[in-house]
Amino acid sequence: MANLALLRRGGQAAVTPPVRTAQAEERTEPQLIGASREMLAGYLAGAGVPERQIKMRTAQLWHWLYTRGSSDFDAMTNIAAPLRERLSETVPVGRAEMAAEQISTDGTRKWLLRFPPRGAGRPVEVEVVYIPEEGRGTLCVSSQVGCTLNCTFCHTGTQRLVRNLTAEEIVEQVVFARRRLGDFGDERAPGGPTTGRMVSNIVLMGMGEPLYNFDNVKAAMAVVSDGDGLALSRRRITLSTSGIVPMISRVGAEMNVLLAISLHAVRDDLRDELVPINRKYPLAELMEACRTYPGLSNARRITFEYVMLKGVNDSLADARALVELIKGIPAKINLIPFNPWPGTIYECSDWEQIEAFADVVNRAGYASPVRTPRGEDILAACGQLKSASEAMSGRERRALAQREFAPADV
Ligand code: SAH
Ligand code: SF4
Repeated sequence: MANLALLRRGGQAAVTPPVRTAQAEERTEPQLIGASREMLAGYLAGAGVPERQIKMRTAQLWHWLYTRGSSDFDAMTNIAAPLRERLSETVPVGRAEMAAEQISTDGTRKWLLRFPPRGAGRPVEVEVVYIPEEGRGTLCVSSQVGCTLNCTFCHTGTQRLVRNLTAEEIVEQVVFARRRLGDFGDERAPGGPTTGRMVSNIVLMGMGEPLYNFDNVKAAMAVVSDGDGLALSRRRITLSTSGIVPMISRVGAEMNVLLAISLHAVRDDLRDELVPINRKYPLAELMEACRTYPGLSNARRITFEYVMLKGVNDSLADARALVELIKGIPAKINLIPFNPWPGTIYECSDWEQIEAFADVVNRAGYASPVRTPRGEDILAACGQLKSASEAMSGRERRALAQREFAPADV
């Protein structure tokens, strides 16, 4: 793993095509958690529910799944037992299995969720991280297993892309975490749920590039933000992208969630190296997409994420160029101390340098919280998710580094 970044630096453009997984693997196996109302109605019809009852039964199922967080059919007491039985024969409630759980001394929790194979695929594992903070709790959700984009400082980029997650699997991460945290209250209690709201915010900052899995992410966000169920406000959902320019306006127009851009460099030559998709969508185009982001305002700013890499992108000249680059865009800047991983060639900037950098940004009028590392003892930080097991072999990495640049079909 040691020479991965060097390999990429010396070799061809390391931009790889977007997700092209086998059709069979992408096929959605039905399950209730994550399903839209239309899908639930279809499952009910398939279980023989007469047309005139479908709407009412759909509302009942929706309530059990997303307001009460029910994990099995037995809890759904106002649905007649024979119907529950018929449904359970064809559609499971959910499919995720908890493969591991770690709880940090600072309260951060990390779960490894295993999803069964889709079609001809094999089981996949994704990590979900919960970060409790004063008065709120943020859930970091994954959109893909692995990532095709190979940003040189990101551990996920060294992992083999297995496949896109389905909308159901994305929603199930949220339902699972809320259930595990007791956020639904007692699902069998007659008095209804107590919504503790441990999970108040969602960030799509786990594994994967959400804009290479747009349709599934969009469908999942529609379910989690539905006011009758999980009810997470779209203003509390942030989608982070490495900069898939043609898709950015669609995030605002169709998902209406907050946008975060993984910027990390303010010059094309350096960004080409750190975030190789920049070779396809350079800074000028990315900034234009930000300036015209639907719904952008002082109340709905874009977050620019900037990972602090010692001696690479952390000079005060970089800080000044950053401020210049985003001038006029209602923005926040999130300085992220680099999280090293075994084999990386990068180091985190010194603390004084991060502070001096933040100072320049602050003086220009931008809030620039430095993201405090959380859950370090359980490797729950950005870029460290899902380590070891999906690591690529040396041969695979060399093949990847030499792969021709291929246009993304977005
Ligand atoms: N693919 C999307 C979302 C997932 S990455 C994206 O790139 O935006 C979430 C954030 O973690 C990104 O800003 C990413 O650049 C950052 N990150 C990745 N590896 C990191 C590391 N080792 N240390 C600090 N931040 C990292
Ligand atoms: Fe993929 Fe984001 Fe990591 Fe880049 S930073 S490799 S886009 S997950």
